[in-house]
Amino acid sequence: MSAKSPPASSLAVHNVMMANRSKDTKPEITVRKMLRDAGYSGYRLHWRVDNKRGKYLCRPDISFPGRKIALFVHGCFWHRCPKCNLSLPKSNTEYWRSKFDRNLERDSRKESELINLGWYVHTIWECSIQNGVAEVLETLTDKTNRP
Ligand SMILES: [Zn+2]
Repeated sequence: MSAKSPPASSLAVHNVMMANRSKDTKPEITVRKMLRDAGYSGYRLHWRVDNKRGKYLCRPDISFPGRKIALFVHGCFWHRCPKCNLSLPKSNTEYWRSKFDRNLERDSRKESELINLGWYVHTIWECSIQNGVAEVLETLTDKTNRP
């Protein structure tokens, strides 16, 4: 056992490994795996949805176009999860505040336009993937069982 800090090269390797790990556990990948495990593999990634006039509206993270179900997997920091209520960065706070405001505005505009087009919209938060996916599975089952 050594109390010395690791040499730079091994620190660099360590950082790369950490980065890869966080990429592999990305919330979106987790959600996709849970859907597949539950037997719903017919989703599309970043499927293009147009508005009524045929103009580009958005590309939900995951969607079931036939059933008109759109899923957004939101990172708590970028999309300002109301539950986590993470604090703003301490430097350039105003910049971040207006950036986040624009994110939220865009999120809610996309969501209401999708709903107007007859889509079910689910937002799955990074911090409560289990609950989010459970809700989605309920909707999927419900819509499948309908005549
Ligand atoms: Zn959260």
